[in-house]
Amino acid sequence: MAYVISEECISCGACAEGCPVSAISEGEGKYVIDAATCISCGACAGVCPVGAPSED
Ligand code: SF4
Ligand code: SF4
Repeated sequence: MAYVISEECISCGACAEGCPVSAISEGEGKYVIDAATCISCGACAGVCPVGAPSED
């Protein structure tokens, strides 16, 4: 299953830079993950300063 980003996101952009398949983009008020592209590697959860990404 894909990862999802919660409302805790502060739009720092760190996860988007680290995603190996470029599944993360800036959305309205927070970053969002394209579920069809995400390979659930967990890298975004590892770099996020507020713990916003989690496995869906
Ligand atoms: Fe990208 Fe991995 Fe996060 Fe999915 S889990 S959005 S592939 S960094
Ligand atoms: Fe949002 Fe965390 Fe990604 Fe930064 S690393 S854009 S706070 S989800």
